[in-house]
This record gives sequence, C-alpha cells and structure tokens, in this order.
Amino acid sequence: MNPSFDTLCVGEVNDPHTTAPHILPLYLTSSFAFESVEQGEDIFTGKTSGHVYGRYGNPTIEAVAAKIAALETHGTGIEAAALLTSSGMSAISTLALGVLTQGDTILTQTNLYGGTTELFFKVLQPLGIKIQTIDLADLTLVEGLMRSDLSIKMCYIETPANPTLACVDIAAIAILAQSFGIITVADNTFATPYLQQPLALGCDYVIHSTTKYLNGHGNSIAGVIVGKHLDVMRGRIWQVLKLAGTNANPFDAWLIHNGLKTLPLRMRQHCQNALMLAEWLSTHQAVSHVNYPGLSTHPSHNIAQKQMRAFGGMLSFELRGGLAAGIRMMNTTKLCTLAPTLGDVDTLLLHPATQSHLNIPAHIRIAAGITDGLIRVSVGIEDIADIIADIKQAIE
Ligand SMILES: *Cc1c(COP(=O)(O)O)cnc(C)c1O
Repeated sequence: MNPSFDTLCVGEVNDPHTTAPHILPLYLTSSFAFESVEQGEDIFTGKTSGHVYGRYGNPTIEAVAAKIAALETHGTGIEAAALLTSSGMSAISTLALGVLTQGDTILTQTNLYGGTTELFFKVLQPLGIKIQTIDLADLTLVEGLMRSDLSIKMCYIETPANPTLACVDIAAIAILAQSFGIITVADNTFATPYLQQPLALGCDYVIHSTTKYLNGHGNSIAGVIVGKHLDVMRGRIWQVLKLAGTNANPFDAWLIHNGLKTLPLRMRQHCQNALMLAEWLSTHQAVSHVNYPGLSTHPSHNIAQKQMRAFGGMLSFELRGGLAAGIRMMNTTKLCTLAPTLGDVDTLLLHPATQSHLNIPAHIRIAAGITDGLIRVSVGIEDIADIIADIKQAIE
C-alpha cells in the first residue's frame, strides 16, 4: 500500500530500537496494538501475558511498581506484588475498597495523616464501613477489642505519624492482628523501605504516598500498594484499581523511578541532617520542645530504635513564644520554604494548626500534641550548617 501524505502523517511508527535502552522508556500510550483478533482475545482473557489498555497496566508503571515491591521486601525472602496508584489517597481507598465490605470495621489510631482520617470518616463510614480509633500503644486494649469485636477486619497503622512523630510498635500490632485473622496495613510514607520494612514485621500490606520521599523531588503525585497476598493483589485489588480508575500515569511512574535511584543517599542525608537539627534545636533557649524519634527524650525513641534503621527526616518543635513567635519565625526564614508537603530534597516548613490539621477540632488536635505553636520541618539534604543558620536567624 502506498499511503497518501495525509495518511502518512496519521500513521504510527514502529518502535525503531535495535539495542535495549539503558534507561526505562516512558510508554505514553493509552492502548496496545494486537497482531490479530485471536491474540487480543488471549491477552484480554489472561491466556497469554501482554498489555491491553493503559488503565489496566502499562510497562513503565509495572516496572516501577515491581521495583518498589522489591525494596519493601529486600533481604526478607518475602514475595510481594505492587500496584501504582494516582495518589497516596487512592492507594488507601483502592486497598480499602478491595479488601473491606459493608459491616467491616477498621481499627486505627487518632493521629493519622489528615486526609486518611477524612477518607475513613467522610467516605468509607457512610458506605457502612465502621471506624474505631484507639490508642494503639495500649496493647491490652487492642487485644480486648480484637477479641470482642468480630467485625474488625483491618488494623491500619501509620508510623512515624504526622507531626509529633509518635511511633506504633508494628510487630506487636501485626502479630496480635494476625492471631485474630485481621489484616494489618502500614502507611510507610515517612520511613520509606530504606528505614523500615513493615511486611517483614508482619504486616499484610504497605501503602505509600510516593509523592513524598520515594519520588523525593516534589514533582509528581502518586501512590503505591504493596501486598503479600499475591492472589488478592492481582485479583480483587487490581480489579478495584482498574474499575475505580485509580491507576497512576506513566510519566509520574517514570519520575518516581528517577527519584528511587538516590533514595538511600537522600535518606542517609535527611536522617543525618534531621538529627543534627533536632539536637541543635533542643539546646536553644527559645525552643520549648522538639519532637524527633532520634532524641532519647522522645516518647517513641525505643520503638523507633527497634524497628527503624535510622530516625527519618521529619521533626517538629515549638518555640517558648508559642504561636506568635512560631509564625514570626516561619515568615522570616530565607532558605526554608513554607509548603504543605514533605520528603523533598529541600527543607520545608509547615504550620499544622492552620494548615494540615485545620479541619481537626482544636481540643482533639491539642490532646494529640499538635499545639497552636507547633512547627513541622521536613529536613532537606542541603548543607546542615545552612539550614541551622537560616532557622537560627529566623528564631533570633
Ligand atoms: C501525603 C500523605 C498521604 C496522602 O498522599 P497523597 O499522595 O497526597 O495522596 C498519605 N499518608 C501520608 C503519611 C502522607 O504524608
């Protein structure tokens, strides 16, 4: 066939590669072409492997998901599968819709990421999924509830938690849950698999907002579900992802992959800088207290030491001057940026009381240690001397 000029313009080209690309290619295609009707049917029915339509799967996305599954299970001998989602929130909603049904209960903590609490109470609860929040540090209480309330199907934990860095003993909760046939899900966003591997500690599923440390460069929103139950991951959870349309996009997956290459380097620097900043802050006269799990004074120091390789890049602190001094300090920094995210390479400040925890009633927020003057720092990988100098000039 000798196509016309117009047809030539419209026509797709064949992938001209002769040698394998060194870097993961970005497959920006919404569908995949079949060689024959028969091949299309075989792929659709799962008789042969292959791709069909971008919402069902894409080579770039699957390569990155597999890499995250390998990181979450590295050195453990555990086999896990992963699915990338459009955000951290959709990782949680897709997992919940995949494994829970009307009448089931989620047992969880009060100090979750704000969006997670809202998802549970404003979206899942109206669908008939019950939410029970308790102090997960009280293992006797947890065991009593698990024993008496047979509707509890999922224990959902987040550790370290935002913004006080309180930690949950992952193994203690997961082993208890397992003995009652309850699945445990851990939000591992703050720690990353470099610092903490919840699947090895007994959890069934891990979720991440890859938006934060895994991507690390603040240029994409995405999430991931990593699970040990391969049949459920490839069955029901993939089905929900595909039908609720919570799939990630290839470009975000590609950016995450770029970020993952330096995850250990970044995490080592984040941890080292955060510890140095926490120690410096705790000796400053104007600072009333510092929350960092790496400080021996932090209530979760022992738990963190038990289950984390180092203590992460997040901390929070309060000035003796309270709210007014805190706001003055945040408005006076030059290097640090005021931005409502975390885990980027640069240092970010956030004021929980007027930003991330604005929708939480004041008495609940304060009872959880999130006082009016608390300042959250996502400590970056800049030279620590510059970060300290900036915060010092802003405080003084
Ligand atoms: C940001 C965040 C989420 C939500 O992730 P998105 O990518 O913003 O949807 C969930 N959990 C934690 C701990 C987070 O920090």
